[in-house]
Amino acid sequence: MHTSHHRVAIVGSGPAGLTAAIYTSRALLEPVVFEGMQAGGQLTTTTEVENFPAFPEGIGGPELMMKMREQAERFGARLITQDVDSVDLSKRPFILRSYEHEVTCDALIIATGASASYLDIPSETLLRNHGVSACATCDGFFYRDQPVAVIGGGDTAAEEALFLTRFASKVTLVHRRDELRASKIMAARVLGHAKIEMAWDSVVTEYLGDPKADGLTGLRLKNVKTGETRDLAVNGAFVAIGHKPNTDLFQGVLDMDEQGYLKVRPGRTATSLEGVWSAGDCADHYYRQAITAAGTGCMAAVEAERWLSEKGS
Ligand code: FAD
Ligand code: NAP
Repeated sequence: MHTSHHRVAIVGSGPAGLTAAIYTSRALLEPVVFEGMQAGGQLTTTTEVENFPAFPEGIGGPELMMKMREQAERFGARLITQDVDSVDLSKRPFILRSYEHEVTCDALIIATGASASYLDIPSETLLRNHGVSACATCDGFFYRDQPVAVIGGGDTAAEEALFLTRFASKVTLVHRRDELRASKIMAARVLGHAKIEMAWDSVVTEYLGDPKADGLTGLRLKNVKTGETRDLAVNGAFVAIGHKPNTDLFQGVLDMDEQGYLKVRPGRTATSLEGVWSAGDCADHYYRQAITAAGTGCMAAVEAERWLSEKGS
């Protein structure tokens, strides 16, 4: 077991964690970053990122994250490519443990992100990024004048469906019940929209298509009331059945909302425990964008740095 002490430790290496690493390393705080098993975070699972400022031609998700990583390393951030498996935040210095490392730190920034929930059927894994997505803001643009589907019945599904009407020729909202969970106002907008059609009481049993050819070409739907199956022709399918923040490690230790998102002070990134800040998707169910994650990563770093200097440490 390798042991070390750092003034700042950061858990997570998506845009939030790496931005916090760039800021804290430039403040000469010599941070350590636990990158986790998904080094670079969610953007490493996508192709083109077209809405991150400064890349007018777009940039590949993995390339963008590699650049952020290089920038953090340039100023001295130390990276450990392991998941933190356990934490002891009962007193300072805090303790973080991974498979081979035990790190103690005075200040902790949590940037563990959130994972979109998927249906978890085999054809979904095959066609992810080949027509199956969990982010309309990111990928909707690719479906201009094409038919798409959104799966889910909550506010996210409603929002994704409405957003997609800007591009798609038609949006089918596939929901497993006959009533939307979405708030009344969102549901009314969806149900009143000329481009949105509902597939009620329906579940996706298979995504159709070939990742090596045209990608997604359709969905096999089953009506849960009648048992009837049918194929729906679509080029894009957006899974919107909820997100799960990666905050299990902090259950019972830090304040969270009922979905597990870390609670932070309004307009700041301080969590319920002094010396711990949180940035990015693990504390944000609303924006869930790379740029906002990076922005809150910066905020967490600045807050941590000021707190450390006030403490004289
Ligand atoms: P994440 O990127 O989720 O990173 C979380 C990090 O935490 C990972 O490095 C992971 O390894 C680490 N981690 C988790 N648990 C542990 C642990 N126990 N120990 C150590 N490390 C841990 N947004 C856009 O703005 N534009 C886009 O075009 C876009 N496209 C997207 C495409 C896809 C397919 C997806 C899934 C998302 C997309 N997003 C896009 C959303 C964007 O990726 C997220 O908003 C952003 O990545 C959130 O950043 P984050 O730093 O909070 O967390
Ligand atoms: P959610 O409210 O939990 O809704 C998830 C939806 O997906 C539900 O309709 C659910 O069906 C369906 N679902 C879940 N698992 C499924 C599965 N395995 N197969 C098929 N369908 C499945 O999640 P959300 O829509 O992401 O919203 C999360 C929170 O963020 C909510 O509090 C929401 O209000 C909020 N939010 C607000 C806004 C806004 O105000 N504009 C926008 C987005 C999100 P059932 O209905 O049958 O359970």
